[in-house]
Amino acid sequence: MPFKSLQNDILLPRDITTWQWLFEHPTYSPIARFPEHELGGYLNAFTKEQLNWRQVKEVATHLSTALVKKYGLREGETVALFSQNTIWYPVAMHATLRVGGRISGASPAYNVEEMTYALQTADAKFLMTHPSSMAVAAEAAKSAGIPEKNIFLLEGELAGYTTVKDLIEMGKKESQQVPCWTIPKGKTNFDVCGFLSFSSGTTGLPKAVMIAHQNVIAQCLQIMQITPRDLTQILAVLPSFHITGLVHALHLPALINAKVIMLPAFDMKSMLDTVVEYHIKEMLLVPPILIRMVRDPIVDKYDLSHLRRFSSGAAPLSEEIIQLLKKKFPQTGFKQGYGMTESCSCITAHPPEFYDYKYAHAVGTICASTTVKIMKEDGTEAGVGEPGEIWAKGPQIVMGYLNNEKATRETFDADGFLHTGDSGSIDEQGVITIVDRLKEMIKVKGIGVAPAELEDLLLGHDKVEDVAVLGINDDYSGEVPKAYVVLKPGQKEGQEVGRELIKYVKEKKVRYKVVKEIEFIDVIPKSASGKILRRVLRDKSRSGEHGV
Ligand code: AMP
Repeated sequence: MPFKSLQNDILLPRDITTWQWLFEHPTYSPIARFPEHELGGYLNAFTKEQLNWRQVKEVATHLSTALVKKYGLREGETVALFSQNTIWYPVAMHATLRVGGRISGASPAYNVEEMTYALQTADAKFLMTHPSSMAVAAEAAKSAGIPEKNIFLLEGELAGYTTVKDLIEMGKKESQQVPCWTIPKGKTNFDVCGFLSFSSGTTGLPKAVMIAHQNVIAQCLQIMQITPRDLTQILAVLPSFHITGLVHALHLPALINAKVIMLPAFDMKSMLDTVVEYHIKEMLLVPPILIRMVRDPIVDKYDLSHLRRFSSGAAPLSEEIIQLLKKKFPQTGFKQGYGMTESCSCITAHPPEFYDYKYAHAVGTICASTTVKIMKEDGTEAGVGEPGEIWAKGPQIVMGYLNNEKATRETFDADGFLHTGDSGSIDEQGVITIVDRLKEMIKVKGIGVAPAELEDLLLGHDKVEDVAVLGINDDYSGEVPKAYVVLKPGQKEGQEVGRELIKYVKEKKVRYKVVKEIEFIDVIPKSASGKILRRVLRDKSRSGEHGV
């Protein structure tokens, strides 16, 4: 029996874009519902630069006009955003969506190769970046065939590059602003992709996940339904390119008319200063930062008695840290969100009645208008209390993977269920607990890493015959990649070659993907069809054998 949400169904508008919804709609837009002096918006915690929702609408209108009239941005084209958090990131995003384009986000830590792959996979025609990312951006754009004139700076200045502020001025000077794009007749907002986000899904290399306008609207309505009214200031520490930031920091705040306090870069001191200065009541964090909230002595220098709750997502949090949080911040409650990029963030989340720490080990209840099946290994549906793979269906489940029919068919079934690759169970109260991750994905500090990407790279090393990569537990990062390596005949195993391989990965991949441990083995266990038997290696690693 499938499990249904206990919440009331959401009423989902199906004929409008996210732009129309947040900036034009009489029922949803904060601009229509609140006087100017009460409007929230985006604020940079470091520079104090801010824009309220009406100003966001105004500058994004000019920006989109310049992009279309001066640079020829067309419906369906991708604008890649490659930057640390800045208030100009969502402005560029809303502007692109306003005229029927789509955005794609990428980690600002990516190197040239990774960024080139991201630009090519998302078929990006424009790139908006930050001065600190320009060196990588410019080279990657060149390799991906994006002309230099289509690279813009979201903020700051660099000789030879047009800034978003220049574009806004250009747009302002136009006698007529480009009208806002609307969903074509005969289509709904589920048929139009507005966002491309990268995820490796259950298997293989990172893929561009196609997120429809409807997915973002639905997820915000689902989360709004269980959001307490005290959430008027939202701390945006998590990166804008990840689905959690995209939904919970860039869209949801407009729907609930909150102010987003954006941290351009993370460090404990800046975050805690900001929490105190803006009297932040809820901290939406990933497990590695929650771990620091209980272990880092800097926290003791702050009076955080105004904090009401912690919110965790993107990766599991240990029971030990949950108990330490409860002890250190006894006045707080705790909630989690569980989902994937492919479910546009949450499939489950804690509603306020479950904020007590006794439910903190779990990931909450099923979001509104969502159905979950828990599938046992024998292909039958599990009942209450029985573990199995979580499958989910609802308006937040995305369209599929761009240009990748095969992976789409493997992950989203014909009945509309997303196969998550996570194992979990549900109790009598409808509360879901995640038990295990069955899929290949490694979660380093809450960010997904695809073993296939590291295996492809290591196979290219002239000393490596065969390799398998999987995640091993790490106190701080949650998990880190470990490589099991078979060396070519004649190569000598040992620390030296181990270090050489780690250095090789370090040179080619962003920090969080770097392999932390290498173990040499004689043969990679594989099935008859050649698939790596990761479970065999996982059991081996859990039995405590170690590499270099
Ligand atoms: P991503 O697409 O990067 O958001 O990664 C999605 C994966 O992160 C899920 O399939 C889970 O394996 C894991 N995940 C997300 N949220 C949670 C959570 N609250 N608890 C445990 N694992 C989670």
